[in-house]
Amino acid sequence: MKIALLSRNRRLYSTRRLVEAAEARGHKVQVIDVLRCYMNIQPGNPEIWYRGKRLERFDAVIPRIGASVTFYGTAVVRQFEMQDVYTLNESVAIARARDKLRALQLLARKGVGLPRTAFAHAPDDTEGVMQLVGGAPMVIKLIEGTQGEGVVLAETANAASSVIEAFRGLDAYFLVQEFVREAQGCDIRCLVVGDEVVASMQRTACSGEFRSNLHRGGSASPVEITPAERRTALRAAKIMGLNVAGVDLLRSASGPMVMEVNSSPGLEGIETASGIDIAERIIEFIEGHAQPRGSRGKAR
Ligand code: ADP
Ligand code: GLU
Repeated sequence: MKIALLSRNRRLYSTRRLVEAAEARGHKVQVIDVLRCYMNIQPGNPEIWYRGKRLERFDAVIPRIGASVTFYGTAVVRQFEMQDVYTLNESVAIARARDKLRALQLLARKGVGLPRTAFAHAPDDTEGVMQLVGGAPMVIKLIEGTQGEGVVLAETANAASSVIEAFRGLDAYFLVQEFVREAQGCDIRCLVVGDEVVASMQRTACSGEFRSNLHRGGSASPVEITPAERRTALRAAKIMGLNVAGVDLLRSASGPMVMEVNSSPGLEGIETASGIDIAERIIEFIEGHAQPRGSRGKAR
């Protein structure tokens, strides 16, 4: 197959591993920087151009869209969809998961376990949302944040009000969430490929920190997940409509709670912690789902 790997940097671990795994299985891979793709949106013949040349048709696309380029990146993925190219994760699913608020609303509708979470616009409702999540301690999260940035633990109602005031001053939307203390600074990352959790790891925050992100000095270790955790991770990925997802769970007293669902999960920490070749599993999944050119039925 001819596979396009949408990634801004071919030296990134995840990008390198996916290229290796695809080539090892006999596929041709081109790494493409989405920000250098431009599109001709014409009736009947949607084109994608890259660095001055029109791209030939690919059999499959692996989108790895960074949070800061979600709007443009999903537009490029959509343009591949307009050409009926198979995409590992669809543009709508990526957008759905990227919007933390929308993702939690959709998960909540389906009864997936979540930390109590509230959202408000007006300063007059700050007191109200703090009450909805059960008061301090609570976690306040910028909707736009990634890798633990803009995620603050407020131990008291006063601290929470100050943080909220500061975020409002920046004109930023934020979620207010119950602090799940019993998770003890750990979370579980489940890597979903299709109908399977192919790998999992526990991330533990470094001391004095409650955020377990590896980018914040958290450490990764192998972990056995429970059947309930497996079910929750698979449901969350399915509700988002993602074939490949990194689902982050907290172990709470009342069972697994989903914090977020990543559409471009990093592979380095979890491949290292679990010893599992996830890149290969992803390529195998594409082989089972994309139809190579020539074998496909009539275009829509
Ligand atoms: P990001 O998307 O930026 O990684 P998260 O919402 O995943 O932000 O939060 C970052 C980290 O903070 C999580 O991995 C987790 O360790 C911790 N955390 C987030 N929300 C809560 C919560 N409600 N209770 C306890 N810990 C939390
Ligand atoms: N780029 C990764 C993501 O969006 C961040 C690393 C990770 O937490 O997997 O998921």
